[in-house]
Amino acid sequence: MSESGSLESEILGVLERLVGFDTVSDKTNLDAIAWIEAYAHQSLNVRTQRYFNDTKDKAALVIQIGPENEGGVVLSGHIDVVPVAGQAWDHDPFSLTRRGEHVFGRGTCDMKGFLAVALSAIPELSRAGLTRPVQIAISYDEEVGCLGAPPLIEGLLADFPRADSVIVGEPTGMKSVIGHKGVQLSETIVRGYEVHSSHLHRGVSAIHVASKLIAWHDRQNDQSREATSAFSFDPPFSTFHVGLISGGTASNITARDCRFTSDWRLLPGCDADELWDRYVEFAANIESEIRKIADTARVTVVKGPHTPPLDPKGVADGAPPFIPGYLDRAAASVVSYGTEAGHFQRSGFNTLICGPGSIRQAHQENEYIAISELLECRKFFRNLACEMS
Ligand SMILES: [Zn+2]
Repeated sequence: MSESGSLESEILGVLERLVGFDTVSDKTNLDAIAWIEAYAHQSLNVRTQRYFNDTKDKAALVIQIGPENEGGVVLSGHIDVVPVAGQAWDHDPFSLTRRGEHVFGRGTCDMKGFLAVALSAIPELSRAGLTRPVQIAISYDEEVGCLGAPPLIEGLLADFPRADSVIVGEPTGMKSVIGHKGVQLSETIVRGYEVHSSHLHRGVSAIHVASKLIAWHDRQNDQSREATSAFSFDPPFSTFHVGLISGGTASNITARDCRFTSDWRLLPGCDADELWDRYVEFAANIESEIRKIADTARVTVVKGPHTPPLDPKGVADGAPPFIPGYLDRAAASVVSYGTEAGHFQRSGFNTLICGPGSIRQAHQENEYIAISELLECRKFFRNLACEMS
């Protein structure tokens, strides 16, 4: 078998195992983590550490290859995947299926493909005479708000020598991505007061109240359009979106309840806490108005997970010194989706995003990745190992 043929079968062998574990975010990942840990320990110069969530049904894993020196590189990926419910797959999403030069399955692109390449490189990395370690950091609950990254990073900093740089392997077609927006999620819950709709003035329609709070989002959209970014985000402004709403019982009853969820996508430099405080204040003012009509009426705003932005300025200033010229910095771009990179940057790492596959295939039915991209990623790790030896 040619060298690229054997690399290909190593990568696909690992990817087949990873795809075979149903690690949709609301399920346990412990079987997958146990398999990965055992796989890593087949090589020498490897140290691993698990970090469990509060309910002990999920774990993050750090695999260190090489010496206990500072200045290494972290390869970061999440093991959880998005659900397949309601999608029309042509084959079992949890069984790797090859068609021509592509492999199909949930997570092939986002982002078990990257993890499979990193894991299959362990034997070579362990023999490479690294002078600084490679640390593979595998998280859970990324797809539900990057919840697993902060405890993973805390463990990494406490238990392992500090790395210089982090490569988050989200699908970018192996191009460097040096910035993304921050994400703030929230839920707004309105309790109104029910009366016959003909007596509207004596009741509080939770739906009408919610509409004022949603209109606040539109005003933010109008204002943010004026403040565009120096970097080419698409769109080049922060966005405020309401994606889910429920409320009311009949057209002739003022609604007792209405709730909706918000998703704010904030440019780097945009202060999420300050915006949140403004929203809370607006909601409190609305609440004091409706309580004049019915003192049981309420507006409750619940802050959800916050994913910090990846600030391109931070990456530009702290260009990872040993990232080979392979990563074309001149061609580096920014994206609008959130990743764990913002959390790593906030913890002081030089962080960029670079991984195989296209974000267009992520989260789709019949998700796939090109085998050529997996091999390109493998070549990148080989160059990295040379730089670090
Ligand atoms: Zn992802």
